[in-house]
Amino acid sequence: MPKLGGDEAARALAWQKGRAGVGLTDAALVDGAGEAFPLSPALAAELRNARSYFGMTPATQAAPPTHAEIVAAAFSPAGVESVARIFERTIAARLTTATGVIVPEAGGEAALDGGLRLHEIPEMTRAILPEVVHAARDPDELSRLYEARPEEMKAIDPDGLLANFLARRSAWLEKGTSAERVERALDVTIDGILRNATDSYIFDPQSQLSAIVSQNWSGRYLGRWHTHPPHAAAQGWTSADGPSPPDMDIAVQEGQNLVFVFYSDGFDLYDLAPLAGAKPDLAKVLKDSYRSDDWRRRFQDLFDESAGL
Ligand SMILES: [Zn+2]
Repeated sequence: MPKLGGDEAARALAWQKGRAGVGLTDAALVDGAGEAFPLSPALAAELRNARSYFGMTPATQAAPPTHAEIVAAAFSPAGVESVARIFERTIAARLTTATGVIVPEAGGEAALDGGLRLHEIPEMTRAILPEVVHAARDPDELSRLYEARPEEMKAIDPDGLLANFLARRSAWLEKGTSAERVERALDVTIDGILRNATDSYIFDPQSQLSAIVSQNWSGRYLGRWHTHPPHAAAQGWTSADGPSPPDMDIAVQEGQNLVFVFYSDGFDLYDLAPLAGAKPDLAKVLKDSYRSDDWRRRFQDLFDESAGL
């Protein structure tokens, strides 16, 4: 996660206060009278990226992206390729738990610029999930994770199931509960929180801001997007569910919330824009399906290569 300017950003903000016509050049802020505030290359790049993000607004308002444009961009060869790569990358980042394989969701914000631009925002809990998997049978290590990274642990364990288990484990063992039963309880708890954590994509403001200043944006702004990744079956990757009630709630409150749902031979694209400012209603969501033999072969080969999941 990039640092957001820090002290330098604060000084730049103080400098521009009260000045008229402040603009951004390659390496400085310059005011209307020609006075300059030199910027480090890092902050200049962040400000340029932020400007490119907010600069999408006029073009978006002048010609709001239509459903037909979104589908045409997503189902074009380049659009399909970018969606396939996101599924491939999240499959590579899969987590193996005591009860199976979990592929995490990916997401971010999208723009239309000739094609579909899926800007990814790293989800705030993704970094800690592999560590929880690694420590899955090690209660002491799990407790240490809770102490060292309380915010992330709380985000993946919002109901405190794992926290409760860790707090009560010693007492259970002292009272004579068998070690096997306690271990099984831990397996079930870990599996539950991992499935919940990977089944959701949290848009937190800090990650969003980091993505805004670390990426270059162009074209017209579409809105949020996230994936519903494949499930591992015996013979290959199988499809996921459509938009969830929380997905629809986000669209009602925030506007567009594109959902890309994996299928073994393609993906379904759900356009949730019609829900903006209205009520959650799956019947109003626009759904289009992309299917191809190329996709089926691509993901079957990927599954077969990682046989023994
Ligand atoms: Zn979803």
